[in-house]
Amino acid sequence: MTRTLFITHESGLAHKMGAGHPEQPDRLRAIERELEGERFQHLIRISAPAVAREALLRVHPERHLRAIEAAAPREGLVALDSDTMMCPDSLTAALHAAGGAVAAVDEVMTGTADTAFVSVRPPGHHAGTTTPMGFCIFNNVAVAARHAIAAHAAERVAIVDFDVHHGNGTQEIFWADRQVMFCSTHQAPYYPGTGATSETGEFDQIVNAPLFAGATGDDFLEALTSRILPRLKDFAPDLVLISAGFDGHRDDPLGGLRFLERDYSEATKRIIDAALRNADGRVISLLEGGYDLDALGRSAAAHVLALMGA
Ligand SMILES: [Zn+2]
Repeated sequence: MTRTLFITHESGLAHKMGAGHPEQPDRLRAIERELEGERFQHLIRISAPAVAREALLRVHPERHLRAIEAAAPREGLVALDSDTMMCPDSLTAALHAAGGAVAAVDEVMTGTADTAFVSVRPPGHHAGTTTPMGFCIFNNVAVAARHAIAAHAAERVAIVDFDVHHGNGTQEIFWADRQVMFCSTHQAPYYPGTGATSETGEFDQIVNAPLFAGATGDDFLEALTSRILPRLKDFAPDLVLISAGFDGHRDDPLGGLRFLERDYSEATKRIIDAALRNADGRVISLLEGGYDLDALGRSAAAHVLALMGA
């Protein structure tokens, strides 16, 4: 039986970016509510620790960490960019979000679990080495990838990002890193404007498969199966990470794609299948976007069931 971790932290409920902001604490509650059912009783639930500074420093330089710490307000909100805010609890949430990603890597790489879903906020894939943006402060998936390499002797790590938005921060961080493959499906043209097929990285280890507005789950699965997974298998990663944004769902208020819950399930199964040969099925998924609370909860539940091998 597949042993699947569910990692979250209460600080994710205290990170607030202002009334009406779509990246809100209720997103985590919507996921938890769906995971209360009988089918999820075998999930191994652990609390995300705060990230070690050493792990953050593998992605973000000291001056960036100091700038974020200095920006954190004692009261009220401060804006890091036009749509990324910090409240007094945001730094703690960001440290536990990255820490949850690192904990998942520790558990999966040492074999105490096979797969993991890290349900944390703030998300990470728009955050560059020194640039918080697009609701993201630290790049959680990048911290996880570098931790697998530095602390667990992984030689190669692959990241699959199916958020509706391109993971520009992750692409920037790994642009010239031959040990990390970054693969993305996303709506284009759309925010943040990157992710063209021609963006392939220094070592041809970046694979962008943009989708036009209105693309369906079939279009998504076709792009994943024909353009991304063959490249991922050739790369032979020791670990596969997923930047799991569910804002490609048909009901999402931000995105313009038309995926359904079953598409996330099928995509997850195909990614796990691709990870079987070299990575022994080691797959860790981190929450990114997804802003319709019902669609997010149901899509994440379908994704987690697939991670559980159900
Ligand atoms: Zn997104």
